[in-house]
Amino acid sequence: MNDDSSDEPPDERTDVDDEAFTYNGGRVDPGESANIRYSISETYLGDPVKIPVTVINGSKPGPTVFLSAAAHGDELNGIEVVREVAHDWDHSELHGTLVCLPVMNVPGFLAQERYLPIYDRDLNRSFPGREGSTSARRMANRIFTNFIEPCDLGIDFHTSTRGRTNMLHVRASVDDPTVGRLAKAFSSNVIIGGEGPSGTLRREATEAGVPTITVEMGEAHRFQRPLIDRALTGVASVLAEFGCHPESSVHWPGWRTIIRDEDEKTWLRADAGGIVDMKRGRGALVEEDEVICTITNPFKEDDDIVTVDAPFTGLIVGVLENPVVYPGNPLCHLVGLSSDTLTALERERTMERSQSEL
Ligand SMILES: [Zn+2]
Repeated sequence: MNDDSSDEPPDERTDVDDEAFTYNGGRVDPGESANIRYSISETYLGDPVKIPVTVINGSKPGPTVFLSAAAHGDELNGIEVVREVAHDWDHSELHGTLVCLPVMNVPGFLAQERYLPIYDRDLNRSFPGREGSTSARRMANRIFTNFIEPCDLGIDFHTSTRGRTNMLHVRASVDDPTVGRLAKAFSSNVIIGGEGPSGTLRREATEAGVPTITVEMGEAHRFQRPLIDRALTGVASVLAEFGCHPESSVHWPGWRTIIRDEDEKTWLRADAGGIVDMKRGRGALVEEDEVICTITNPFKEDDDIVTVDAPFTGLIVGVLENPVVYPGNPLCHLVGLSSDTLTALERERTMERSQSEL
């Protein structure tokens, strides 16, 4: 928190006039923006490891919102979301401040790997970080204290792990009122509740008083334009909801399901090793007992075909792309739907089909 606002609850910061965004080594005044390369570590050569940060401080007061991506270095979709918000959008009427962190895990990004390629540490289990600790925690600490703690809200973008893909959805501790409001404002069809593992940016930021959601979208190593566009709609909707763009309106996704209980979702795992023939893709609606995939050996012997059925009617939120498994590997992430949601979803899919046939 900035010194002048540390005692104020997040929503009241809109009343603070003429508020500069400050970080260790600099400030960005209202009406100004800055592209910063901020040093968070040093390489084996002793060179600085710098993360790109764009701070846009609107000319009008409002909340400070961070948008972050690539805590996992090979998860690229969010990078483009954050870059477009930072550099392609018109912020002349912005109320508040945007702190845009398109690539947090720079060493992982350079190597195109999920983890920090330094003993394979997971930056997204290292927040809030600590001075004098491991390399990952020191980096996390530099990011967290300078660019996360001064914010009022945040959105952290991820994709599925390499070899899998997922439909765009929000993960958030929805029972926290501000986090729940933020999650709904992002206007995804699916919100999965829960506080998230210890050390993740969204959990640690939320616990530090910066309500934060994670957005999962698509697969690693790619830009997926339809998902990026959908996420940009979500960001615009959040900025409308929290008064950063008060003239804009909050988006309604058409239907929404919030998964709160463990029994409303399941990761189906392979019980046999082999080669997977996946019948249904990301975002598919599957009926109870429907065959989702088969697992076969190299000889495709009939006796050895393992069939995997849907345990309940639901939506495939995440699914395997790389079609090989050991026993225990995840095949797909299935979430249940209420009958009302199912009806709304089926109506939407029928409309999409009829439009595509025109
Ligand atoms: Zn990730």
